Amino acid sequence: MLEDVVKKKIDETRQGEAFSSTIYHTDKSIKKFYIESYGCAMNFSDSEIVASILHQNGFGPTKNLEEASLILINTCSIREKAEQTVRKRLTDFKKLKQQNKSILIGVLGCMAERLKTKFLEEEKLVDLVIGPDAYRSLPQLIAEAGDGQKGVNVLLSREETYADIAPVRLDSNGISAFISIMRGCNNMCSFCVVPFTRGRERSRDAQSIVQEAQNLFDQGYREVTLLGQNVDSYKAPPPPKGGSWETTSSLLKENTIKKSELQSPSFGGVGEAEVVTFAQLLELVAQVNPLLRVRFSTSHPKDITDEVLYTIAEYDNICNYIHLPVQSGNTRILELMNRTYTREWYVERINRIREIIPDCGISSDVIAGFCSETEAEHQDTLSIMEYCQYNMSYMYYYSERPGTLAERKYADDVPEETKKRRLHEIVELQNKLSLQSNQNDIGKVFKVLIEGDSKRSSNDWKGRSSQNKLIVFPKNNMPLLKGGYVLVKINDCTQTTLLGEIIDQSSSYSHL
Ligand code: SAM
Ligand code: SF4
Repeated sequence: MLEDVVKKKIDETRQGEAFSSTIYHTDKSIKKFYIESYGCAMNFSDSEIVASILHQNGFGPTKNLEEASLILINTCSIREKAEQTVRKRLTDFKKLKQQNKSILIGVLGCMAERLKTKFLEEEKLVDLVIGPDAYRSLPQLIAEAGDGQKGVNVLLSREETYADIAPVRLDSNGISAFISIMRGCNNMCSFCVVPFTRGRERSRDAQSIVQEAQNLFDQGYREVTLLGQNVDSYKAPPPPKGGSWETTSSLLKENTIKKSELQSPSFGGVGEAEVVTFAQLLELVAQVNPLLRVRFSTSHPKDITDEVLYTIAEYDNICNYIHLPVQSGNTRILELMNRTYTREWYVERINRIREIIPDCGISSDVIAGFCSETEAEHQDTLSIMEYCQYNMSYMYYYSERPGTLAERKYADDVPEETKKRRLHEIVELQNKLSLQSNQNDIGKVFKVLIEGDSKRSSNDWKGRSSQNKLIVFPKNNMPLLKGGYVLVKINDCTQTTLLGEIIDQSSSYSHL
């Protein structure tokens, strides 16, 4: 029962998805690769970079395991359960390998980085082990593995951003795409393996990001999500001077970066030069076209600035939605987690968001049962969730990860049943908040970007509001296309979906 509640709530719909595209399906002469992705959006985005590297080296994607000569699994290490899922999947691949020895099997991503050569020893069938910063070496390692040598490259880099690689969009709806703006993380939250598996933080240059957004827009995409583990600490050298690169916001012009900020520990330092901040990057991407919606993830409560909030408020096409993981509502636990903010700080940030962007959708990540968490401290998490009125949360119980600060310093001493019970209470509360938030939207009108047919019926469209809420509404034989915008009035809702009707299609713009 509990498992059901948890599964339903955590958005697992894309986990293990096999990506493909139609580009090469008919060409039998081309070698095929099959790739499954697990974990966060960053991994799904990385799989598109891997696809691009393979494409340039004569491989085409397939969704059909049986026709693949290369099987890749892009892995996640964030919780033990994520790693168990991958190991189980590898045993399925084993059967294929037993039937056809020439198939190559590769493990990519965070688990590859964490386990390194251990993978070759433990999972005997694996031919390739490649960490998140080593995807450029894939073609060479594939060639070596084809000659019988096992290929391992788990070197982390301080520079790699794959900025020059145009991702091959896999199984996209043709409307929404991810753009990776930075890699790694310098934060060292005590529960988290990411700094160990993805290395030091580095920002991709702004010019290549804006160019990627422009190319996507030209191809018909109408929404981009800028991805990073901590987007607010994005800092990159400025693009070349010139009219189109100048930011226009008066607020941003008044806020050039000061020398003292350049020396902050999370920044590698570019001397006295100006840098592009996340707020400025948001503005540059928003200026690509007013019809291109801009989203981003993930924001860190210690780093999100008023500058970012004002930029969101200033541009209609920057969505009014912020994912601001709280993790815990108790200051002592936040300190043990090394989150570097207090409950009061977090609440102040939420108040500021509500002040500057009154209709902003806010979501969160929450961890139940961190080391030494008491019942009263758990209640603090519930009360901060009530205060923040999250639209949605990703909720987990604490899973100790090898090598993390918490594993080395603290006892994982909250019993599993207690962790699960607390998580259950968190999930139940979030369900209530989500339903309330949706009920509050009944009678309101939202501008919706049409993403395609609804899951349940081809007579209905599905799309999202700026606040990232899923909205379903009847097509009513109107001549609309996905990628267009319509005004939808909300008449009803469930906990996860708003249900409405089109009241104005004059705001609809076809992308074709
Ligand atoms: N960088 C983002 C941030 O700071 O919020 C999120 C990165 S992490 C991939 C996504 C979420 O996984 C975290 O926000 C946290 O809630 C959860 N998580 C990370 N490590 C965990 C652990 N050891 N046990 C349970 N949940 C964990
Ligand atoms: Fe992990 Fe913290 Fe970095 Fe997020 S900010 S990736 S939780 S270390």
